[in-house]
Amino acid sequence: MFGRNGVFNLITDKERVRRLAALPHVRSARLERLGQARVAIVGLGGLGNASAQYLAVQGVGHLTLIDGDVVDGANLGRQVLFSPDAVGRLKVEAAKEALTQLAPRISVRAVPEFLTPQNLPDLLLGHDVVVDGLDQAAPRIWINRWARRHGVPVVFAGAIGYEGQVMAVYPEGPCFACLWGEAAGADENCMTGGILGPLVGIVGALQASEVIKYLIGVPVQLGTLWLVDLLNSRWRTVTVYPNPLCPVCQSSKEAEHATSL
Ligand SMILES: [Zn+2]
Repeated sequence: MFGRNGVFNLITDKERVRRLAALPHVRSARLERLGQARVAIVGLGGLGNASAQYLAVQGVGHLTLIDGDVVDGANLGRQVLFSPDAVGRLKVEAAKEALTQLAPRISVRAVPEFLTPQNLPDLLLGHDVVVDGLDQAAPRIWINRWARRHGVPVVFAGAIGYEGQVMAVYPEGPCFACLWGEAAGADENCMTGGILGPLVGIVGALQASEVIKYLIGVPVQLGTLWLVDLLNSRWRTVTVYPNPLCPVCQSSKEAEHATSL
């Protein structure tokens, strides 16, 4: 710890958050706890790579990386944590190594599994925020239900072609199903649909920004859906309101009511 690199690491960890401390709206007590924050990233594709990179260098203390996939040569154009040497390795292992190089004091748990309804509760429990880096519709529905029940924020995102979306869901605001319902839509498959590499950097960095703002106490805006369209150079937000007919919000309210009786 106190070797050449150890001393250097202690210095750089303080430097990592210095520019955050100078920002308005930051709560210093929350900033001091950033090094203890626990964030789960589900999916280590382009979005997960970009968000993990920024969360690590900004001083988030722990990341749990969940993905059963291995690195493919076609990933290298947008998954910035992977070098050509990583091709064929488990994504979570290669990402853990790269993140530890960037931020040596970070704690990273690599989980080489795909998320299922069965393993989800054990894998996500105990995290302050969940980041959705998936390209499949069904797991988002499972994550949304679990998060609403446990009061954990989730930053959802999707990216395909030239277009991306981000929606941070907080316990006090509308959930993912308030907007999209619970019918699993089509998966966003960039293997067949194509994708502009930097798009996932933009969208993943936006996810990391929402996570960091929340963790350091910057007031969050509930129900904001970000839409980015790189083909037509458009960037806009849409306000999402709680849906009184949302099955997920209804069932979590009923569960709350039952426990308060
Ligand atoms: Zn809802």
